[in-house]
Amino acid sequence: MVMTAPLPTAAAVRLLLRDVVDPEIPTVSIVDLGLVHDVRVGADGIAVELLPTFVACPALEVIRSAVIDALTALGSPVEVSFTFAVPWTTDRLTNAGHAGLRNAGIAPPADPVDVRCPFCDSATVAMDSMFGPALCRSLFYCRACRQPFEAFKPI
Ligand SMILES: [Zn+2]
Repeated sequence: MVMTAPLPTAAAVRLLLRDVVDPEIPTVSIVDLGLVHDVRVGADGIAVELLPTFVACPALEVIRSAVIDALTALGSPVEVSFTFAVPWTTDRLTNAGHAGLRNAGIAPPADPVDVRCPFCDSATVAMDSMFGPALCRSLFYCRACRQPFEAFKPI
């Protein structure tokens, strides 16, 4: 008699995905970044569809292996694919995602006039450069605590 492990639930898969982080922003999980488009569990295994964002672009292969690593514990084959079914936008970031960005010293996406300092929450900030170290971020300077910081650009 062949023993087969019970199929994991999609909820169990999503729970484990909460531990997978963006390698560039380790305080935000791919779930809170809004990268997880679909999770399907069937007899063939687990299929996870992710939305590629230019935010995570250089890290896509890293994220793919991190997802596979996180889900191997469930004992089913894992297939990770990237889909363009819907466009990723900064609206997909969850509240926890916004909090995680602030913890990383990055202002969550907002109109440039509404950007607040992630360190002291001051609104007295000035944009230093449209082009931060990553395409998706701009550089700001806080006049209150005199710290430079990055802000996520809304897209
Ligand atoms: Zn500040």
